[in-house]
Amino acid sequence: MSSLPFIPSIVDGANLEETGRATFDAIDPATGLVTARAVEANGADIDHAVAAAKRAVAGSWGRSTATERVAMLRRIAAGIRARAAAFVAAEVLDTGKPVALASALDIPRGAANFDIYADLLAAEHEEVWRDERADGTRALHYSHRRPIGVVAVVCPWNLPFLLMTWKVAPALACGNAVIVKPSEETPRTAALLAEVMRDAGLPDGVYQVVQGFGPGSAGELLTSHPGVDAITFTGESRTGEAIMRAAASGLRPVSFELGGKNAAIIFADADLDAAIKGTARSVMLNSGQICLCTERILVQRSVYDRFVEGLAAEMRSWKAGDPHDPATQLGPLISAGHRDKVMGYAAAAIRDGGAALVGGGIPNLQAPWSGGFYMEPTLWTGLADDAACVREEVFGPVCAVTPFDSEEEAVARANASEYGLCAAIWTRDVGRAHRVAAAVDAGMVWINTWYLRDLRTPFGGTKRSGIGREGGRHSFDFYSEIKTIALRLDDTSSR
Ligand code: NAD
Repeated sequence: MSSLPFIPSIVDGANLEETGRATFDAIDPATGLVTARAVEANGADIDHAVAAAKRAVAGSWGRSTATERVAMLRRIAAGIRARAAAFVAAEVLDTGKPVALASALDIPRGAANFDIYADLLAAEHEEVWRDERADGTRALHYSHRRPIGVVAVVCPWNLPFLLMTWKVAPALACGNAVIVKPSEETPRTAALLAEVMRDAGLPDGVYQVVQGFGPGSAGELLTSHPGVDAITFTGESRTGEAIMRAAASGLRPVSFELGGKNAAIIFADADLDAAIKGTARSVMLNSGQICLCTERILVQRSVYDRFVEGLAAEMRSWKAGDPHDPATQLGPLISAGHRDKVMGYAAAAIRDGGAALVGGGIPNLQAPWSGGFYMEPTLWTGLADDAACVREEVFGPVCAVTPFDSEEEAVARANASEYGLCAAIWTRDVGRAHRVAAAVDAGMVWINTWYLRDLRTPFGGTKRSGIGREGGRHSFDFYSEIKTIALRLDDTSSR
C-alpha cells in the first residue's frame, strides 16, 4: 500500500503532505486495481486555499493587464501540449477511456481552451456610449470588467481535464483565482495542471486543487465557504440542487452544466448511413458517459427497421478492452458503483417490457480487463415513453429506440423530458431541419451531426440541464463583474 504514489492537493503553491490527512484510493476503472492514493483537503486546507486565493486576487494577479493574461494563457496552453503524453496517460488511468479518445479529444481540447480564451481576451473591448442631451449635458459611459474574485470549480469525472479547463481558462482570463475540486474518481489531471501553471509563472494561490468527495468533504466545504465568490459546477442535476442551497448563503452566483436525456430524431429523408454512424457514436463515445450523449432515439416509422438493424450492427462492432491499445473504441464505466447503477437500468428495461436487441450484459474480457467495469453497448426497443430508461439519465452506452409518425409527434416526444441539454436531428429537408431545431427545447441542436462544438459558441442547457451559458465571450459574463463608469464631458464650472 505504501508503495503507491500520492496524488496531491495543491494549496498556496505547495503540495499538501499525506501525513495527518485522509487519503483515498484512485482506482483504474479498466482493471479495478488501486493505482494511487489522493490526498484529501480538510477544512483547514480549504480555509488556507481561500485565503491564498483572496491574496492572489488582491495582489499582482488581480491587477494584471489583459495583455499579461493573454500571454499567461498561451504559456499554459503550450505547457499542456509539451506534456500531452503525461496528461493522456493520467486521464486514461483515471477514467479508463481509450487512449485514442483522450489523445484526440480530452487533452488537445483542454489546451485549446486556454488558446481560445487568449484569443477572445485579446479581442475583448469595452462598451462605450456617448450621451448627448438637449440641456447640453455631455458624457461618456463606459463599462469595465473586473474579476469576480475566488471561483470554486467543481468538476465531474467523465471529461475531467476538458471540462475543468473549460472553466479555469475563462476564469483566469478575467483575472480570478480558482480553487478546483476534481471528482474523487479522477484526481490526476487537475494536479498535473498545477505543475504546468507553476512552470508558466502563475503566482501561488491563483490555481489551487482540493481533492476529496462531495458531501461532508472538500466539495461541500468549498462550495459553502463564505470566502468563495462564485461557483461553477458540472455534474448531476441533484448535486446542482445541493450546491445551489450552499450558494444561497451569501447570494453567490452559480453557473451549472447538469444532466441530460438527449434525443436524436431520425427522419425518413435522412442520409441513413450517416445517421446510423453518427447516432451510434453519440450513444457510445466515452462509453456513453458524456452529458451530450444520445439516450433516446426517435425514428420515422418507414425507415425504423432499416435504422435499427444498422444501429445494432454498428453497436456490436465497437471494440472494447485495453484502453491503452489505440484500436480500442470502448472503455469501461467509471466505477463499480456506476456500473451497478447502469446494470440496474438494464434490468428495469426488461421489467418495463423492453427488449435488449444488443447487449444488456457485461462483456467477456481477458485479464486484467476482466476486473474492469465494462458494460456491453445496449440497445433497447419496445419501451414506452414513461419507462425509467426513457425518462432518466442512465449515463452509459445505452439507448432506447422507438418509431414515430409525424414531425409534430417527434418534437412533442423529444420535449417531454425534464432535461433540455441537446438534441440531434437527421434530415435532408433544410426547412424541416430549421423548424425542428427551433421547436426542440434544448440548449444545443445538431443537424446531421453530433458533438460538433466551436468553443466560441454559447453552451448550456434548459430545464434541469443547467443554469446559465458559458462558452466564448458568454463565459466572461459569469467570470467578471461589469462596472459602469460615467464621465461628464461638458464644462460644468458655469452651472
Ligand atoms: P456528480 O454531481 O456526482 O459530481 C460532480 C462533482 O460534484 C464531483 O466533484 C463531486 O465530488 C462533487 N459533489 C458531489 N456532491 C457535492 C456537494 N453536495 N457539494 C459540493 N460538491 C459535490 O456528477 P458526476 O457523477 O461526477 O458526473 C456525471 C454527471 O455530470 C452526469 O449527470 C452528467 O450529465 C453531468 N455532466 C453534465 C455536463 C454538462 O455540460 N451539462 C457535462 C459533463 C457531465
